[in-house]
Amino acid sequence: MKPSLEVLPLNSWIDTNGKPLIIAGPCSAETEEQLVETARQLSRLGTVHAIRAGVWKPRTRPGSFEGMGKEALPWIQRAKEETGLPFAVEVATPEHIELALKYGVDILWVGARTTVNPFNVQEIADALRGVDVPVLVKNPVNPDLALWIGAFERIAGAGITKLAAIHRGFSTGEASKYRNIPLWQMAIELKSTFPDLPIIGDPSHMAGKRAYLQELAQMAMDLNYDGLIVESHIDPDKAWSDAAQQLTPAAFGEMLEHLHIRNVDSPNVDFKGAMEQIRQKIDNVDRQLIEVLAARMALVEKLAEYKKENNVTIFQPDRWKEVHESRAKLGKKMGLYPELVEEIYKIIHMESIRKQTEVMNSNEQSA
Ligand code: PEP
Ligand code: MN
Repeated sequence: MKPSLEVLPLNSWIDTNGKPLIIAGPCSAETEEQLVETARQLSRLGTVHAIRAGVWKPRTRPGSFEGMGKEALPWIQRAKEETGLPFAVEVATPEHIELALKYGVDILWVGARTTVNPFNVQEIADALRGVDVPVLVKNPVNPDLALWIGAFERIAGAGITKLAAIHRGFSTGEASKYRNIPLWQMAIELKSTFPDLPIIGDPSHMAGKRAYLQELAQMAMDLNYDGLIVESHIDPDKAWSDAAQQLTPAAFGEMLEHLHIRNVDSPNVDFKGAMEQIRQKIDNVDRQLIEVLAARMALVEKLAEYKKENNVTIFQPDRWKEVHESRAKLGKKMGLYPELVEEIYKIIHMESIRKQTEVMNSNEQSA
């Protein structure tokens, strides 16, 4: 069954005047003064459409700051009154949803540690039945697209149509300069599964450090994301959670000013014509690429038949070592990123082994 989702466009529930949706605010609501003052400064930028704050914080280890809970909800009411901006909060249980709505929270989000668990997501979906509220769903902590898709299906199944995804990066165990590796292709795959689903980038949780926010926010804009959610705090170094990745409202304003927002399309006819020509050339090159791949596989098939006749194993490590190294070197010489060529040859190698195994086994049966 091909997944499908009934999703309303972003501008049906928040007015961004055709611009990317900007949500900003502290990782956590800490004190009334910290929350209201951060919201005030952010709203003065004039470019923020909604304020965020964590009230209940899902922490990996106990003993870390777990959020102010219910006590912070009246502060949100004050921040809303003072700024006139809608407010977004993370919810992880039916009780959070009930309280958040009671205190006038406008937008709910499901955190990365909740999206990983279908039991929790289903509980949230059940609690949302009959409620008309926008719900943003962060990607699960681990790079499992099906979990992310499943969360949308459960929540949409409860009748929620004001939906958007938040891409905050993944924990893969691999070394990276980022706290959570973006794996941009995951979000792109989600978007191809649900083309109407808006995607919001969360450079803060991808980065983990202020220094990387700008480049990640720019990447999200270059991939045509529908918005950004960024952590901002009046005194980031003293923040009770995620101190290293938060920006002062002023620094956040500067970051936004430096963002280059490109157009998805251009009304310029010359541009369109030139782009169409280049695309046709790309289509031709792709055809050649696939033809060359098919020719290579045909040779592999022939080779497998010789190996079978001469009783030689499929996998010959020295040969493959030589293939990987020489191809990466050649690619580099031609200006290609060596890792690209290495990755492509890993896949070609896997397919080559699969094909040869198939040939050997079918030969065995016919012999
Ligand atoms: C947050 O937004 O502060 C948060 C806890 O994020 P995540 O669920 O992405 O870890
Ligand atoms: Mn945070």
